[in-house]
Amino acid sequence: MEPLTIARQRIRVLLIDDSEADYFYTQSLLEDVNEADYECSWACDYQTGLEALLEGRHDVCLVDQNLGAATGVDLLAAGQEAGITIPIIMLTGTGEGAVDREAMGRGAADFLTKDMLSSRLLERTIRYAIERRRLQVDMESAAKQDSLTGLANRRHLYAFLGDAIARARRSNHVLGVLFIDLDHFKEINDRFGHSAGDRLLKEVACLLTTSVRQGDLVARLGGDEFAIILDNIGSPDNAAGIAQKILDAIASSPPVPPTNPYRVGASIGVAVWPQDGGDADKIIMAADAAMYCAKSRGRNNFQCFEGAMHAKAQRRSEIQGDLSTAIAKNELSIAYQAQFASQTGQVKGFEALLRWTRGGRPVDPAEFIPVAEECGLIGDLGEWVLRTACSQFRDWEMKGLLPRGLTLAVNVSAHQLTDGGLLATVSRILNQTGLDPTRLELEITESAAILNIDRAKDELVSLTQRGVRIALDDFGTGHSSLSYLLRLPIQTIKIDRSFVQSCIENESGAVLVKGTLGLARALGMNVVAEGVESEHQRKFLSDNGCPIMQGFLLHRPCNSAAAEAILRSDERGEAAATGQSLPDARAPRTVRAAA
Ligand code: C2E
Ligand code: CA
Ligand code: CA
Repeated sequence: MEPLTIARQRIRVLLIDDSEADYFYTQSLLEDVNEADYECSWACDYQTGLEALLEGRHDVCLVDQNLGAATGVDLLAAGQEAGITIPIIMLTGTGEGAVDREAMGRGAADFLTKDMLSSRLLERTIRYAIERRRLQVDMESAAKQDSLTGLANRRHLYAFLGDAIARARRSNHVLGVLFIDLDHFKEINDRFGHSAGDRLLKEVACLLTTSVRQGDLVARLGGDEFAIILDNIGSPDNAAGIAQKILDAIASSPPVPPTNPYRVGASIGVAVWPQDGGDADKIIMAADAAMYCAKSRGRNNFQCFEGAMHAKAQRRSEIQGDLSTAIAKNELSIAYQAQFASQTGQVKGFEALLRWTRGGRPVDPAEFIPVAEECGLIGDLGEWVLRTACSQFRDWEMKGLLPRGLTLAVNVSAHQLTDGGLLATVSRILNQTGLDPTRLELEITESAAILNIDRAKDELVSLTQRGVRIALDDFGTGHSSLSYLLRLPIQTIKIDRSFVQSCIENESGAVLVKGTLGLARALGMNVVAEGVESEHQRKFLSDNGCPIMQGFLLHRPCNSAAAEAILRSDERGEAAATGQSLPDARAPRTVRAAA
């Protein structure tokens, strides 16, 4: 049997000492050590010592305090200045306690009194110094690193950017900052589990690192947010070029996990120093605002910062702040928009639309609802809408104002659908308000159910089993409308306003709307055409058998008193749609309805 051999550690020692005799003596002491092999080299003065130190070939340095004109402490100071990381151990004569203290202050790893040296003491001091320094370096890099991906973390990004700006200022360079946020990462995490999510983040980290140059810094800021500092980009346009390169790389990377049928995309914000912000905070805010803009422009794209984005970001954060107290401050209300039967003009339902009056002024839902979704407030708002509208409907039901089959449509956002609590919330509210579940129709958009279709499906199936109806909102605007129709328990299709518009404007629009109506008939589904604004559109839809219509032509969204008036006039047999609508706070125009 071969004897067991353990490779002995090899330690490269630099000794800086003006006495050659002392060097030989120290070397001989180290030769007596059994635990490791020491490879010693000698520098006889300050200058050659410093040069050898800067070469970075050594594991540890022993330096004598007496170096002729200079001192060991001077050398420590120079090493510290140059960013030397190997441990330096000071050798001093007896009675030099003050020197010891100064040396420690200058970052000496330890100090030894020359005339007390022994092999054991030297070995132990060197070993401890190296271990301590290794630990320190590990801790320092851990404090700079994101533990999952090994990229720089947020703290390090700021520190790096500060230094990069200082350098760029001196050399008149231009820097680029990219903010990158993955699209639909949360859904992938939810659907495939956290380990798949982690794998994806690591893949992206790797891909980002290979998309940039050595001197650039890639950081993970947390979650699915990354940032890149592009050093010395030459022209500001180059930052945009790199953003595009990253989008291409992400688009052509293999899916994670391999069974994931959905492509991961990214929204990237691009900002350039100095033109978009003078310091680290400002430039990062600019890149963040540009990223938000990329997200709101349909994701999977990049946007370069423009001045107006700051104002938008500011407004967004104000909205976010005020929205959180909107319920408590009683600033929310619901507008009801009636849906009419094409043939009879009877009211067939109402869609509940959330309204927010902030400091006396209405805020556009297209503005505040995305903010609510992003900051997690949509759950509370959605629940408020559902409760308020259901109890209003129950009230009308008790007053005998609701004919059979007249429904309440409530919009459900993506977040409500994917956070797993929709079934419980809807059931609770139906129980509390006592509204008949068959009165309720939940409007979901396909972006809402995207990726998480299976989980969403289970909840939606349970809801339909209770009698709740499901409508697919904005039909035709997404990519997977048809597959949704087949996979989710949907009873109603809402043809998006853009198609209603185009049906009379061009042939393909007309074909699309006719096709949708035919498809719905074949599948036994109900159809509501949204956003009917002109008599021309109304006639086209009616001639092609669209059963239900909703739009400004027929009735604007209105408050509950006005909606009640519609119900009463309908009850009296007056075609509601011939009555004047009482205006919505946001839509003061009185609309005369058709048919
Ligand atoms: P949506 O679900 O597609 O709602 C229809 C929107 O079209 C409403 O805008 C309505 O006022 C508007 N509209 C109706 N008829 C016409 C028309 O003839 N012409 C035009 N130009 N517009 C018409 P609104 O109330 O501003 O809501 C915008 C979006 O905000 C809604 O689109 C919906 O996605 C979202 N939203 C509104 N209320 C809620 C809510 O309670 N929860 C959630 N999650 N989203 C809501
Ligand atoms: Ca809707
Ligand atoms: Ca819609």
